[in-house]
Amino acid sequence: MKTSRACCPSNVAPANGRRALLKTVAGIAGVSAASGFGLLTSGEVAYAAALTKEQRDSMTPDQVIAAMKKGNERFRAGKMEAHDYLAQKRASASGQYPAAAILSCIDSRAPAEIILDAGIGETFNARIAGNIANDDLLGSLEFACAVAGAKLILVMGHTACGAIKGAIDGAELGHLTGLLNKIKPAVAATTYAGEKSSKNAEYVDEVAKTNVMRTVSEIRQQSRVLAGLEKDGKIKIVGSMYHLVGGQVEFF
Ligand SMILES: [Zn+2]
Repeated sequence: MKTSRACCPSNVAPANGRRALLKTVAGIAGVSAASGFGLLTSGEVAYAAALTKEQRDSMTPDQVIAAMKKGNERFRAGKMEAHDYLAQKRASASGQYPAAAILSCIDSRAPAEIILDAGIGETFNARIAGNIANDDLLGSLEFACAVAGAKLILVMGHTACGAIKGAIDGAELGHLTGLLNKIKPAVAATTYAGEKSSKNAEYVDEVAKTNVMRTVSEIRQQSRVLAGLEKDGKIKIVGSMYHLVGGQVEFF
């Protein structure tokens, strides 16, 4: 924690500076107090330290998921950790060891780090309208997991997604047309008994869920690298939906 010691403001307890993810993991994993985990309670300290390689590598994919759920609970309760972003920036400048890679939509209302209460250096974040996977995104995810060691790929759709509505409507505009074409298979694959219209919020969200699960499947089918890591238990690839109303990230 010498980095945070060197730069932290007076309200930070340098020797105890830990990250939100780690605190949660300590509780889940039952790590002993002697190891330094689980000593803090929420709100006692600004989050100044970046994940170290050892800390990240000690996490399982399920622990990363659990930590994300806890972070989202804090967000929903308005009790986010007091992130010291400048200290996190300094602590991570010489190396990054993120625990997860998130593939989510560009929607301004669904910023992954904020709604999961994560800090600088904790998650890779790939954003594209409609959270689809293409070759370049697959390459990015392969880098995140196979090279940089992330333990989880979280595909995150969201309610009331404009890209999903555009795909339902068959909207056409410049390069957007081609992007929406990649979402249209999810429209076709969604079974729904009611009105199949972009004006029907329930239907839009059903298509969005289908789209998330299709993206998860495509990652597995099109990336032998990532499918292999998952088969070996080194990573997990999971889908989720962020609910704009209420703020919950629903994990599938
Ligand atoms: Zn969207």
